[in-house]
Amino acid sequence: MKPITEKERFTGQVFLPGSVVGILGGGQLGRMVVLEGRKMGYRFVTLDPAADCPGSQVADRHIAKAYDDPEGTEALAAAADVIAYEFENVSAEAVKRLERRVALPQGSRLLEVTQHRLREKEALVMGGLPVTPYRTVTGPEQAAAAAEELGFPCILKTATGGYDGKGQRLVRSPDEAMAGWAELAAGGREVILEQFVPFRKELSVVVARGIRGDIVSYPVAENVHRDHILHRTIVPAPIDEEIARRAEQLARDAAEHLEVVGLLAVELFLLEDGRLLINELAPRPHNSGHYTYDACATSQFEQFLRAICGLPLGSPRLLSPAVMVNVLGQHLPALMEKLPSLPPAVKVHLYGKREARPGRKMGHVTVLADANEAMEIMDQIGLWNR
Ligand code: AMP
Repeated sequence: MKPITEKERFTGQVFLPGSVVGILGGGQLGRMVVLEGRKMGYRFVTLDPAADCPGSQVADRHIAKAYDDPEGTEALAAAADVIAYEFENVSAEAVKRLERRVALPQGSRLLEVTQHRLREKEALVMGGLPVTPYRTVTGPEQAAAAAEELGFPCILKTATGGYDGKGQRLVRSPDEAMAGWAELAAGGREVILEQFVPFRKELSVVVARGIRGDIVSYPVAENVHRDHILHRTIVPAPIDEEIARRAEQLARDAAEHLEVVGLLAVELFLLEDGRLLINELAPRPHNSGHYTYDACATSQFEQFLRAICGLPLGSPRLLSPAVMVNVLGQHLPALMEKLPSLPPAVKVHLYGKREARPGRKMGHVTVLADANEAMEIMDQIGLWNR
C-alpha cells in the first residue's frame, strides 16, 4: 500500500479522523457506519426524512429533511467534509448537486447505474459480466411476447425503487405478463422482464475499492431468503473452492469495471451446472455483509469509511465462521424473551427502531460458529425454524 501523498492530502481526497462525514440515509446501514466510524475518530451528520431513524440516534447531528430537499442537502453540504450514500433510493439529482460542492467519492454515476435495474444490467453486459437473461418491456403486448421468448415462469420487475421483492411479479402466462406489466408500469415506471433462474444457491460477495483502485473482497456468503427478505447468511458459503474463486473474481471485475469507490455488494445466482449469474448490485454496505462486524478483521462498515476517506483498506480476513440471521418485527418479542439466556456465541445487534412491524428489519444476530453448530444454537434458541 502506497502512503498517502501530500497531493492527495491537499486535493481533498484523504479525510483523516476528525473530519465530518455526511451520510445520505439514516437507516441501519448508516447507523453501523457511524458506530464503526466513531471508533476511528470521525464525526457524523446524517440526512434522512425520519427524525428518530437508526442513524440519527448515533450521529453527532441529524438533518430531518427529504433527500431531495434543497435546504436539507444545503445543510449537509455545509456541515460535511465528505459525503457518502448508504441507500440507492436517494435522488441522483440531489447527489449530483452535492458532488459539485463537496467530496462525494462514490460519485453520482455509480448511484445512477445501481438504482436502475436496466442501466445496471447494461453496464454489467458492457463489462462482459454474466447477468440473468432479460428484456426491457414497454407495453402489454410486448410484455407477453418477451415472456414467450424468455419462457415461463419469468419475473417482471420495476427498474427503480424495488427492494426486498417489492415491485416484482411472477409471470406464468402471456395474460399474467400483460396484467403484471399494467400493474407495475402504472405511474410511468420502467419495467424489465427476467428469466426465472432455477438457482442452486444465492451467493454474495462484498468488495471494497479505494480511491487509488486498490481492491479487497470479503469471503463468499450464501444467502437464504424467505418471503423475498434475506433470512440468513452463511459464511463461508458451503460451495467448492473453485466456485468461490470465480464468484470473488466476478465481484472484483464488476467493481473495477464500474470504477467503484467505497463498497460494491454483488448478489449472484449459482446454477445447477456451476454457472454464476449476477442478479443485483448495491454500492454500499449490504445486509449479507453484516456478519463482518463480528466475524472479520475489518467490518464492511469500517472498510466503507476507509475507502471513502482515502485510507488504506483493512484486512477482510474471516476470524470465525458465522451465520447471520435477520431479526424482523415478528421475531423481536421472542428474541427479547431469550436475550438473558443466549449462548455466548450469539452477538445481538438492534437498530433502535421503535415500531416492530412484521417484515421490518429490527436487528440481526450473528452466531460465531460453523453452519451446523449455528443451526443447532438457533434451534435451541427456538426463534427460527430451519
Ligand atoms: P431482487 O430484488 O432482484 O434481488 O430479488 C429478490 C429475490 O427474488 C432474489 O434474492 C431471489 O431469491 C428472487 N429472484 C429475483 N430474481 C430472480 C430470478 N430471475 N430468478 C429466480 N429468482 C429470482
